[in-house]
Amino acid sequence: MPNAKYIFVTGGVTSSLGKGIISASLATLLQSRGFSVTIQKLDPYINVDPGTLNPYEHGECYVTNDGAETDLDLGHYERFLNVPTSRANSITTGRIYKSVIDKERKGVYLGKTVQVIPHITDEIKNSIKLLAKNKLYDFVITEIGGTVGDIESLPYIEAVRQMKWEMGKNSLVIHLTLVPFLSAAGELKTKPTQHSVKALLEYGIQPDILVCRTEHELNKDIRKKIALFCNVEPDAVIESIDASTIYDVPFLMKEEKLDEVVLRKLHIKVEQKHELGLWNKFIKKLKNPQFEVNIALVGKYTELKDAYKSITEAFIHAGVANNTKVNLIWLSSEKITNENIADRLIGVGAVLVAPGFGERGIDGKIATIKYVRENNIPFLGICLGMQCAVIEFARNVIGFEDAHSTEMNSETTHPVISLIEEQKRVVHKGGTMRLGAYDCQIKENTLAHRIYKSDLISERHRHRFEFNNEYLHDFVNAGMINSGMNTKAHLVEIVEIPSHPFFIGVQFHPEYKSTVAQPHPLFVSFVAAALKA
Ligand code: GLN
Repeated sequence: MPNAKYIFVTGGVTSSLGKGIISASLATLLQSRGFSVTIQKLDPYINVDPGTLNPYEHGECYVTNDGAETDLDLGHYERFLNVPTSRANSITTGRIYKSVIDKERKGVYLGKTVQVIPHITDEIKNSIKLLAKNKLYDFVITEIGGTVGDIESLPYIEAVRQMKWEMGKNSLVIHLTLVPFLSAAGELKTKPTQHSVKALLEYGIQPDILVCRTEHELNKDIRKKIALFCNVEPDAVIESIDASTIYDVPFLMKEEKLDEVVLRKLHIKVEQKHELGLWNKFIKKLKNPQFEVNIALVGKYTELKDAYKSITEAFIHAGVANNTKVNLIWLSSEKITNENIADRLIGVGAVLVAPGFGERGIDGKIATIKYVRENNIPFLGICLGMQCAVIEFARNVIGFEDAHSTEMNSETTHPVISLIEEQKRVVHKGGTMRLGAYDCQIKENTLAHRIYKSDLISERHRHRFEFNNEYLHDFVNAGMINSGMNTKAHLVEIVEIPSHPFFIGVQFHPEYKSTVAQPHPLFVSFVAAALKA
């Protein structure tokens, strides 16, 4: 296609309707017809990125190959499309303003009053167009965070209005709304949708397609009514009924012909058929597992499942690869002790200790690791989970009683996890961790090598602290080896205990790279080990 087409996805009525999943599902359908698609998220908060946000505020922070800390929706985009995203796929109000203010200080707007319109809106428009610059994509889907009517999202909505006006038939707006069911009346109600379209119209945007979240089917009459009151064609009223798994949504959208309506409205011939063989297989296996296994996830954000989104999704992918339903048993690390851990792990086939920051829950993580190490229970430690495995081994096997990470105890006499020189100089908190993809060399004849079947891998990072190489000999001599290294910086990336059936800790985050098309080998092997245990 000569020019990229722009699809904007806005939301109305309430937040959490699943714009990210709808965007990813539409993208999957377009991709399955042979088009190249990318998805971008615009977040209306003033943080430059979500990296400094507590997961309770905003769920998991997802990291791209190029080291951007982003919204968890980018994870959905990658999991569905199997195409990496980048910094350009995640924009926040903070980033937009920062860039405009930096330009102002440099004198780029000399003589002018810098204003929301046109300067902020132009910066937003440029960030949207940037993705299509190298003609890599046929479609750029831009999801606007928040709900229409929010004060924060106004400049984004205005930017969409302008782009729609400028691009005419090369762009369209999909508005996602809610059609609630009132049980007292026994009826689906369309008024909230009508109101939210009115709100959008007040800002000058007529949506082209309405995707209506609902718990019950929308019959013809309701569709007609919505179409009539909202000025859209009846077949552009798309039902999005609650699904048992997010991986069903592309199929539901296909049945509703969302992608066909999109193509038609953008004047593109609906030629190629969908190529969804891989997805079909995936969903069949997901719904008909042959085995079942319990895996404990030990972390401190267990009340908020979104905090570990990529991990839970990676388990779904790895479960499918093993024809297995993985039941995650969420264990709050703060409540775990050496005394109660055996009880907590009854019926559990394997244990994952989650990433994290700070002191809270550390003792419970260490108690868990001691137990699984001593009882040959398969273990995967991710980032802080790997660091805790190192601390536990130092204390209980090597005999360094007060071994710790300097993140939790700067006075320890055995700082087995500590800051590298580069990080010691860092003052600012935002975007200054070791972030993004780095190479890792894997040693032969190790568990890591059997898992990855490769000598060189690349995985994404998000941490400040590192294995302290001064202690490497002590660990290797006592039976914990460094099976993966970043050879350039001489950093330990993977540790394992060869005498244990499956004990591996990784400094990086494998969960970010697991997709429907490519379940992550580490999770696949871990689930297989849990099944065997
Ligand atoms: N808090 C640890 C560090 O900064 C681990 C981070 C993580 O688990 N993502 O190194």
